[in-house]
Amino acid sequence: MHALRIGSLSTAVLIGSLLALLLGALPITVNADVAGKSPLLLENPADGIYVHRGAMATTAAENGGDIANIGFIVGSRCVAVIDTGGTQAVGTALLAALRKRTDKPVCYVIHTHVHPDHSFGDAAFVGDATVFVAHARFPAALAARREGYRQALDRLLGVQAAGSEIAMPTLLVEGERQLDLGDRVISLKAWPTAHTNQDLTVFDLRTKTLWTGDLLFAGHVPVVDGKAIGWLAAIDALIALNAAHVIPGHGPPLRDAATAFADQRRYLQVLVSECRQALRDGVTLATAVDAIGSVEKERWLLFEDYHRRNVTAVYTELEWEN
Ligand SMILES: [Zn+2]
Repeated sequence: MHALRIGSLSTAVLIGSLLALLLGALPITVNADVAGKSPLLLENPADGIYVHRGAMATTAAENGGDIANIGFIVGSRCVAVIDTGGTQAVGTALLAALRKRTDKPVCYVIHTHVHPDHSFGDAAFVGDATVFVAHARFPAALAARREGYRQALDRLLGVQAAGSEIAMPTLLVEGERQLDLGDRVISLKAWPTAHTNQDLTVFDLRTKTLWTGDLLFAGHVPVVDGKAIGWLAAIDALIALNAAHVIPGHGPPLRDAATAFADQRRYLQVLVSECRQALRDGVTLATAVDAIGSVEKERWLLFEDYHRRNVTAVYTELEWEN
């Protein structure tokens, strides 16, 4: 009995060590890639479409800020990069991966929105021939947040944040705009306030690939930095695009994104309806914040990191709607 217990304990310790090794290996590998500026791992879900999946985590030393999906589209004339990652090192590693696939120039760097995990890699792409593209409201958002983002990155990543900068875009999109990469047209759409007030999507007409930026979170709890009501309206319009491939801002590339959109819609609807109920009942935010949306807790990764902030955002959004 005694021996058996020791045996079980040893087995448990061994399994635990193996698990820790396996779990630990993933972020360390990603971090080593970034720190060593070796090319990032890419997926190739459709012809000429390359995606690097960020870690499902918040920005931390273990992942080197490599937490958002980033990538590029290759035309016959040039390449459009879509988001550049959370640090200059991530951007540099993306460029190294890009150079293994094509020697064509990068004519556009397109920002899906201003959040730092998607845009601090810009410094790797600054050059005479590269035009930075974003939603018309991006410059104001960047001006307001740049310093705060920079300080937070330094605090979270220390030396790993070195050289990271978000470029001020010079080609701004209101409504829709098409760009030609050479025998390949991509359609950009600037959305009304949803995930943020400067969400921009990219649709590749040839492969019907939709890059949603953070208008779609797959598996990772959605983050509300804009308006939940606007976001719910955007979800219907995004589904109506009938994309063959969908690249979310976080989570795996999808062939059939209906379930991911449905999960995200359900989460936002729960937030909206429970915040409205709390407001009708005269329940303060401080009292309601732990109860609202708690039914969603087991359904999402990183729920604890973002959900309370979402409740605060949606409660505040709805507070004066009547
Ligand atoms: Zn975002």
